[in-house]
Amino acid sequence: DDRLWEEGLAIVRRLEDAGHRAYLVGGCVRDRWLGRPLNDIDIATSAKPEAVMALFARTLPTGLKHGTVTVMEDGCPFEVTTFRQEAGYSDGRRPDEVAFVLDVNEDLARRDFTFNAMAFASGGELIDPFGGQDALRAGVVDCVGDAAERFGEDALRMLRAIRFAAELGFEILSDVWDGIIRQRGRLKQVALERIGAEWDKMMAGSGPEQAMHYLFKSGLLACVKEPLPETFAQAAERYRLNGSPREWNVWGASSADESSLGNLLSLPALPETDLRWAALLAGMKVGAADAEALLRTLRLGGQRVGRIAAAVGLFARLDGRGEDELKPAWIEAALDYGRAAAEDALAIREACGEPWEEMRAWLEAMPVASVGELDVKGDELSGYLRQPPGPWIAETLRRLLAEAASGRLPNEKFALLAAAKESNAAQRESR
Ligand code: ATP
Ligand code: MG
Repeated sequence: DDRLWEEGLAIVRRLEDAGHRAYLVGGCVRDRWLGRPLNDIDIATSAKPEAVMALFARTLPTGLKHGTVTVMEDGCPFEVTTFRQEAGYSDGRRPDEVAFVLDVNEDLARRDFTFNAMAFASGGELIDPFGGQDALRAGVVDCVGDAAERFGEDALRMLRAIRFAAELGFEILSDVWDGIIRQRGRLKQVALERIGAEWDKMMAGSGPEQAMHYLFKSGLLACVKEPLPETFAQAAERYRLNGSPREWNVWGASSADESSLGNLLSLPALPETDLRWAALLAGMKVGAADAEALLRTLRLGGQRVGRIAAAVGLFARLDGRGEDELKPAWIEAALDYGRAAAEDALAIREACGEPWEEMRAWLEAMPVASVGELDVKGDELSGYLRQPPGPWIAETLRRLLAEAASGRLPNEKFALLAAAKESNAAQRESR
């Protein structure tokens, strides 16, 4: 981190030596002040993009229209952006035009929150025109200027306010919260992909449960441009009306508590963001189909969607089961969804303080855990049994899986083929 910071300062000095003004700005200044790890380094400068490109050996024209050039040093990217102002947010999404300006203070004024509107000079001076340090000391999220106006310019800032509050453990000042409530309808102007990216960062961060609390309480989710799946929307709305963080720690019980969102207090215990998503959606009783629809709407990648929905689906199979039905239901669901999903589900239970030792042992001892792991493929079955492919293949494979998983049948091609022949003959007779 120190090296990254020093490397950033070296770029600043290089710009200064060429006669420009330059500062470290934004998130890295905030995080450095807080002693938190740095994500990336942003630099603001009076130099125009062409001048920046001429000055450094390796650059990428990442956002020339907005004055941004990426400078590569030591394999690390540094975003160098010309001081600018933004004007005319007619669509609540992006400025109609950007105007380059000469003064860093004008550049800082366009930024969203006071703690994001500080600049660090190469001499060590901190430029803080809006009281960013005060906000950091007080632990509050405060906007540069009037909150409602700033959210009206760019609706994504409402989600950013929530993300920073949760991530830093800060309070959202009341006029900032009021600004969100007043402007939340504008969220429909924001691309779902960007909403998904912010939400995903909230899930990945250090305060996911606090982020979900604010997200649901704000009513923002009812304002996205495509309707979110029914079961999810209803659970979120119930939480908006009745929920409080104290009621969160109830996941796993056959919760009749309408306002609960599941065992959110365990989310930070899960190292992987996908598992956090799965725990959230399983706790909200969203079901596999709606979980998948939600995550697709948010434009999460297909592989991630599949993984999360599978774990959610596995949990859904246990819903409403009595004590004695749990184990067989779990085994059946684990075989349908496969080993990876079963491992995810067990990891979630463990993080929630409800390990299921017996099923962990079962899973570990299980020689095969999904149709894909069987030593026989559908076309081999159809060839060996001299039957044209059809739905019978999937049914047969699923039967073989149950046998092999329980250890009644070895996972070997000829044993499996022989068993398939026998069981198909038996099936035909019974019809
Ligand atoms: P992190 O990278 O940890 O998410 P960050 O503060 O660096 O936090 P970025 O999205 O990287 O956030 O943006 C860098 C800086 O650009 C911010 O600190 C802020 O000053 C400014 N900024 C980013 N997005 C907006 C926005 N929507 N409105 C106003 N200013 C913004
Ligand atoms: Mg950043």
